[in-house]
Amino acid sequence: MTSGMRSRPKGRPRAGSRGYAKLVRLHHVSGGRLSARVLDGRKIGDEIQAELADQLRELKAARITPGLAAVLVGENPASQIYVRNKVKTCEALGLYSERIECPAATSTENLLGLVARLNARDEIDGILVQLPLPPQVDSKQVLEAVDPAKDVDGFHPVNIGKLVSGRPGLVPCTPAGIIEILVRSQIPISGARAVVVGRSDIVGKPVAMLLLHHHATVTICHSKTRDLAAVAREADILVAAIGKAALVTADFIKPGATVIDVGTNRLTTPEEVRRVFHHPAGPLRQLEAKGSVLVGDVQPEDVREKAGAYTPVPGGVGPLTIAMLMANTVKAARLRRGKEAFRSQPSLAG
Ligand code: NDP
Repeated sequence: MTSGMRSRPKGRPRAGSRGYAKLVRLHHVSGGRLSARVLDGRKIGDEIQAELADQLRELKAARITPGLAAVLVGENPASQIYVRNKVKTCEALGLYSERIECPAATSTENLLGLVARLNARDEIDGILVQLPLPPQVDSKQVLEAVDPAKDVDGFHPVNIGKLVSGRPGLVPCTPAGIIEILVRSQIPISGARAVVVGRSDIVGKPVAMLLLHHHATVTICHSKTRDLAAVAREADILVAAIGKAALVTADFIKPGATVIDVGTNRLTTPEEVRRVFHHPAGPLRQLEAKGSVLVGDVQPEDVREKAGAYTPVPGGVGPLTIAMLMANTVKAARLRRGKEAFRSQPSLAG
């Protein structure tokens, strides 16, 4: 894992300066045009998993196998895929994992009982309740029932409080992954103007808090923000966590900025594809072959031309979310079982 709060290393340009844009940009020239540097989430996610594999070997020698329980309620196809991928990654890394499925009609009381049993089991270090839960379930009550020491999603109020006050705790995975991408890609955060579009408890608010702890000057935007494009254009680091396909277009992006695209939106009709892409031929072929096209909250052609660096969709933030879940499970195991903290420090994210 990377280090926590960092000050600007000697000789590194200040955020916002011309040198900063140059450092971030490291452009590739294609067809006579400059295109932005791609921040490869798969590669960074693999790097983190390799580091975790080392830690797991060390824990195994002490007869400790961290365990994760993933609770899936109902038959939401996206949730099924997310849980399947999480369990598969646990298996690949050698973590113990359990997938617990509950019918869609499950009550809040049933889930509270299940969480209480998982809290009491010593071999379970991490509990994740896949969201969204069905409407009859009181999601907040269920999430608050998870033991904060096993809250590998970082959604419990105790962990949120620790995050806000800058104390070590379990940090939500996607925001933690975003910080890993920035730090490991040597994007300067300290002193940078960061704009986060989206204020959810899962992504927008925690990533804004982490950027602040890394000394960025942070603005949080939402659906009531006036002149969103103008605010976004001030950003050295722009994080889009909105859930609206390609809402962030060229006029939102300061030339040379770093753009982190959290959005995952599926286009399922040719009209949608033509509306989003300036050159839709390739995506239309993909739609025909696969039935849908995945796009982020950022217009993919604009960001390539205008940003200095950006995360693609797919292959950007997504792989980090799973990697950080694994990191949180290993961290929870170490903390719960009295092992000394990580050998190498996690970012403040962790
Ligand atoms: P939410 O729906 O909880 O929050 C969306 C936020 O965007 C809200 O704060 C909302 O504002 C704001 N917003 C909506 N429309 C606009 C607009 N037109 N202008 C400005 N702001 C707007 O979403 P999440 O934070 O949970 O997720 C965001 C996206 O990230 C989704 O596409 C989700 O699928 C994806 N995601 C991806 C992950 C990954 O691993 N890659 C993990 C988690 C999420 P307001 O508060 O005013 O309503």
